[in-house]
Amino acid sequence: MITQEQKEITKLDVNKIRIDFPILNTNIYGHSLVYFDNAATTQKPNQVIDSISDYYKNYNSNVHRGVHHLSQMATDRFEEARRTVRDFINAESEKEIIFTRGTSDSINLIASSFGKAFVRKGDRVLITAMEHHSNIVPWQILCEDREAQLDVIPIDEKGELIFEEFEKLLDSDVRILALPYVSNSLGTVNPVKKIIEAAHSHGVPVLLDAAQAVQHIPVDVKELNVDFLAFSSHKIYGPTGMGILYGKEEWLEKIPPYQGGGEMIHTVTFEKTTYNELPFKFEAGTPNIAGAIGLDSALKYVTNLGIDSIHIYENKLYQYALEKLSSIKELTFIGEAKERAGAISFVIENTHPFDVGEILDKQGIAVRTGHHCTEPIMDQFKIPGTIRASFSFYNTKDEVDRLVLGLNRAKQMLL
Ligand code: PMP
Repeated sequence: MITQEQKEITKLDVNKIRIDFPILNTNIYGHSLVYFDNAATTQKPNQVIDSISDYYKNYNSNVHRGVHHLSQMATDRFEEARRTVRDFINAESEKEIIFTRGTSDSINLIASSFGKAFVRKGDRVLITAMEHHSNIVPWQILCEDREAQLDVIPIDEKGELIFEEFEKLLDSDVRILALPYVSNSLGTVNPVKKIIEAAHSHGVPVLLDAAQAVQHIPVDVKELNVDFLAFSSHKIYGPTGMGILYGKEEWLEKIPPYQGGGEMIHTVTFEKTTYNELPFKFEAGTPNIAGAIGLDSALKYVTNLGIDSIHIYENKLYQYALEKLSSIKELTFIGEAKERAGAISFVIENTHPFDVGEILDKQGIAVRTGHHCTEPIMDQFKIPGTIRASFSFYNTKDEVDRLVLGLNRAKQMLL
């Protein structure tokens, strides 16, 4: 049931919003673009593009080091971005916001630094069966190095975590649990608050891979009481090459730096180096200044539309897409969790996802096909890959109708 209050905040003017995204006017093979590859990366509004261009045109300079005017301007904007991220996820302090290159980089940072401090021979690290490779491989590298064990929480045929199995795996040898908030290939939204509470009751800290969550769902790190949270700017309407790691201050104080270099130091002699305070201890070298400025504009853009309104609008579109896609009788959904967001994955009987994707492309419809960097999920469902349509607030029901039409055409050609 949508309440009156929700109705009020649902009013996104999508036609007006679309004007902000120049790429949405593109024609592909003579068809207007339908962009349903938002889980891979989102398109950028003029506000983001212009803020990056403004930086390079008007105040390009390095941060934190110069006394001169341009450097101070760049530093102010760079640090403003950090405060914007802090407010966006409701962190306690900007010291808890580390700028990285992306979700993968954020996870690697924690696997490496947390691993060095806390993971020893015979310890265990928990992940789930629905991870993106980015939340598998860094932990494998750590576990190999430390002679620790990587354990995987299984998922059922709907693509939901099996909670009882998770509880069985929780014991005093587990050093950390890392899991996705939202699965990039199944769309499953995990009950992360409940999972975090269970992990904490065994003294286990939790890293949330929020790469597919922050752009769809309001995320409040204090409310979740999560220890670490990672996401990428480019999946939330900002530029590539820019990521965020949130960490509770008490944890970040306890773990060593990830990389060495300029910026992350306090003093350096050949005998001994002392490290900078948070968050700079984790930011070696010249950061992605334009990336931070673009991210700042992106988060302000999303905040201005309202993440609650986005959530409601996208959820309606998602339900509409599920209903329309269900009309194709040869289509099987991969991932049918009760709570889903962002992406819908499916296969079409007797066709290869790649062939379907190519035929859609010729009709101007961009979807992703393949394993979506989640090979273990494909193995579990015994398929080579899926066709994945993933949604944004700038997508419309008309576009969903075009997808269904396109799929019917692909079916005619392939079956
Ligand atoms: N985790 C999830 C759930 C993702 O969807 C992605 C990107 N597809 C990543 C991690 C990795 O993000 P990035 O490539 O921006 O580092």
